[in-house]
Amino acid sequence: MRAAVLSRHDLDGLTLQETAEPTPGEGEVLVRVDTVGVNQLDLNVIAGIGPGAQAQLPRILGIDPAGEIVAVGAGVDRSRIGQTVVVKPNIACGTCAHCLAGDEANCPAQTVVGVHRDGGAAEFVTVPTRNAIDRHGLDAAQATALVHSASIVINAARTVALAADDRVLITGAGGTLGRAAVAIALARGADVVAASRRAIAPVGDEQIIQASDAAALASALSGGEGFDVVLDVSGHAPTLSAGISALRWGGRAVFCAASVDSDLRIDARDFYLCRKQLSGVASARYADVAEALALAGSGALPSLVGTRYALDDIATAYRDFPRKGDGKVVVDVR
Ligand SMILES: [Zn+2]
Repeated sequence: MRAAVLSRHDLDGLTLQETAEPTPGEGEVLVRVDTVGVNQLDLNVIAGIGPGAQAQLPRILGIDPAGEIVAVGAGVDRSRIGQTVVVKPNIACGTCAHCLAGDEANCPAQTVVGVHRDGGAAEFVTVPTRNAIDRHGLDAAQATALVHSASIVINAARTVALAADDRVLITGAGGTLGRAAVAIALARGADVVAASRRAIAPVGDEQIIQASDAAALASALSGGEGFDVVLDVSGHAPTLSAGISALRWGGRAVFCAASVDSDLRIDARDFYLCRKQLSGVASARYADVAEALALAGSGALPSLVGTRYALDDIATAYRDFPRKGDGKVVVDVR
């Protein structure tokens, strides 16, 4: 089969190769891949930095493939053959206290497809049965685009108990995660304000604030009625800080952007006296993925798919990725 193999920590170390088709082991399924996303984590693996430093080379990249189950290993229900699936990148250990409590997102021993084991930038990939989640025929590219983005936003919304009629501020609303966050908050029945540095088209009936920087955002929010929830996907600490300042009494802030700055400043006195809360969310539960797929299937979540590349052009996709703004970059493998 053809696969995008990284043999050294450099983009020039990534080549398309003919490799042996993997065999599903016990408790695993073999997925014939249709699409796979391009993620910051891939770039970290290529560079050998951060969480990507844990990848042993050579490694087939690709964390979030979608395709069809074409074979199963020992102990797996054979009726899953033929099922259209998307792969949840994070594999929970299944045995720690978090996993046993159903909170796989906070499992400290997670491994990741395309980092700790071969990924889905290939014609076939094997994954643990539980990580191949039924997408009920949802378009493969759309499923790839949402599995590692919308699912995290759903986890973030649950973490702050985002509820109908909450007044919610989404910061960083112009990006892929931001669009998902606006759609999910609207689907929850919230009263949504979407803030972005650039002009953005509405997802639904949210109010839009265009503010060129955090100071402009803070000024636009000052004197307003405040928010029950701030959901930040900008990864920009001053923007998150402006959101926290705009929380009402007892308000909950949550951020879910891997690129978050490390120098977040909070007015600790205001935070304390107004009983505010702040959480960080970095991955999702299995049920969050199922919920994201169901939302997309019902039409409540718009397609998050952006630029598409053929597998032959995957190195170009990785090279171009840092400059791609709109939507999730997807590689068509088949
Ligand atoms: Zn665990």
